[in-house]
Amino acid sequence: MNVLVLNAGSSNLKFQLIATDLGRITQNSDERLCRGQIERIGGEAIIAVHVRNGLKQTFTASLSDISGALEYLVRWIASDESGITEVRSPSDIHAVGHRVVHGGELFTESTVITDEVLQGIEECIDLAPLHNPNNIKGILATRQVFGPKLPQVAVFDTSFHHSIPEHAYLYALPYHLYRRHHIRRYGFHGTSHRYVADRYRTLRALTEEQTHVITLHLGNGCSVTAIRGGRSADTSMGMTPLEGLVMGTRSGDIDPAIVNLIATKGGLSTDEVDALLNTQSGLLGISGLTNDMRVLLQELTRQDDHRVRLSIEVFCYRARKYIGAFLACMGGADAIVFTGGIGENSPDIRVRICEGLEWAGLRLDHNRNRQMVGLEGQISRSDSSLKAFVIPTDEELLIARDTVQCILGEPGEHRAAAAGNSGVGEMTH
Ligand code: ADP
Repeated sequence: MNVLVLNAGSSNLKFQLIATDLGRITQNSDERLCRGQIERIGGEAIIAVHVRNGLKQTFTASLSDISGALEYLVRWIASDESGITEVRSPSDIHAVGHRVVHGGELFTESTVITDEVLQGIEECIDLAPLHNPNNIKGILATRQVFGPKLPQVAVFDTSFHHSIPEHAYLYALPYHLYRRHHIRRYGFHGTSHRYVADRYRTLRALTEEQTHVITLHLGNGCSVTAIRGGRSADTSMGMTPLEGLVMGTRSGDIDPAIVNLIATKGGLSTDEVDALLNTQSGLLGISGLTNDMRVLLQELTRQDDHRVRLSIEVFCYRARKYIGAFLACMGGADAIVFTGGIGENSPDIRVRICEGLEWAGLRLDHNRNRQMVGLEGQISRSDSSLKAFVIPTDEELLIARDTVQCILGEPGEHRAAAAGNSGVGEMTH
């Protein structure tokens, strides 16, 4: 099956086309046919695409809305110009998988999109007012472009965390706030944490029940998850992605009383404080320079600027603090797993986070750590009782796989025996 994976934003559309089926999932032999994004939808849009592992191609087109962008994309993929021989017409795209940010308490797993599901995603808009409406637009645009018969699947950022127990998801606020407004920890990056935990299990030939790991997704957004028996037991992001680790531009944990203080002292509205915490804080806020970890590390080598160093130290300290907390919550783990742009590519940051975790039995193999850049493998010594791994994340692949499994009626069963194709290729055009 050729599955188109979509992540619809306010004026952009990220996409990947992945050839996969139950057999390929079992053999880990899925194939990425193309990936890219369309930016500045609504005007002269910029389309950037890599076909297989080829060089980036960039072109522009006047695209007024997301439907127009999707229609353009599908036509281009099916054209001779793209070189994607697997897709000769739109009907060679057999399903679409959508990244949906918030599934609230309604969606505990990926699901085929029906009218009721769409209504459920709408009901979660209150919880993610900036994201869910765009995801809905992506789903409606897909219906418009492909017709109603094309199977669509929603894969939620939150659903992996539905297993977090009540004592870990409830905030110590008046209980009616949870009842009335569903204020609780939901957690995000669920697709990424689930993907790397699954890969870890495969690499180590473990069962789901034997998988006890702490996964650190360190990108622009950062979160850490305690995974016990293959299930999320706690995670650092909360009601929104603002809580937890220090991120590129987000503060992560702060004393909630600071919100009022900043508003009063700075004469800011609550919306302005919210924007300050989300877009002007984190690495950018402390360093005063950038949210980009690579630039900060380069700057630190060039000159030992106090605030640059401090931003990196606060970032790493917070990550180590969460690892310690989650080790206590889980009663120990077998491994910590690094992923995301920083986690996958920065041996330096991994060393800084792991320093001081020797008490927990973690002993890094510095050679392996240095070599493990954008690669998958172990970075701890063989005598380390708490192991450390780097596993590049692949959220789109997991979305494509979930799409196939949901359509064939085997959600979550990655290792399921292949079932027959159920006519999912039927399309209106
Ligand atoms: P997003 O969360 O937007 O998907 P990524 O996962 O791509 O972001 O992570 C982006 C972050 O990864 C940036 O801070 C970037 O500087 C950092 N990064 C990428 N490569 C390196 C590297 N070689 N060393 C340090 N940081 C890196």
